[in-house]
Amino acid sequence: MGSGETQKEFIMALERTLSIIKPDATKRNLTGKINAKFEDAGLRIVAQKRIQLTLAQAGQFYAEHKERPFFGELTEFMVSEPVVVQVLEGEGAILKNREVMGATNPANADEGTIRKEFALSVGENSVHGSDSPEAAAREISFFFSGLELVG
Ligand code: ADP
Repeated sequence: MGSGETQKEFIMALERTLSIIKPDATKRNLTGKINAKFEDAGLRIVAQKRIQLTLAQAGQFYAEHKERPFFGELTEFMVSEPVVVQVLEGEGAILKNREVMGATNPANADEGTIRKEFALSVGENSVHGSDSPEAAAREISFFFSGLELVG
C-alpha cells in the first residue's frame, strides 16, 4: 500500500456481506460454481460453513417476512437440505453481491447472474444476500463469531 491516504480510502470502501447458498443449490452440488461467480466478481470468501438450519432458526433469520404469505414455504424450504453460509468481503460487497445474485425471481434476472443460471423459481432461488449494511451486520453475527472471520 502506498500513502496513508490511499490506505484509508481502501479500508473505508471495504465491506462484508452475508451470503447463503440455499438448499436447491447445495442439493445440486452447485456450491463450487456459485463460489466461482463470487470470486470472479472480486468478492473474497472470508468465512464459510455448511450447516443444517432448524425451523426455529430459519424463522428467526427471516423474521422480517413473518407476515408474508410465502413465510411457511420459505422456512420449510430453508430446512429441507443443508445450506452453506458465508461472509463475502470486497469493495462495495453488499451491492456487488446483489448484482452477482440477480433479481429475486429468476425470470427477471439478468444474463450471467447466479439466479438466472441456477435458480429454479422465485422461492427456490439458490442464494441469499444481505440487502443493506444494517442487515449485513445483523446477519453476519447471526451465523458467525468474530473468531471465525479471517480477513
Ligand atoms: P431477496 O432474497 O432477493 O432479498 P426477498 O427479501 O423479497 O428477496 O425475499 C426473501 C426470499 O423469500 C426470496 O429470496 C425467496 O426465496 C422467497 N420469496 C420471495 N418472494 C416469494 C414468493 N412470491 N413466493 C415464494 N417465495 C418467495
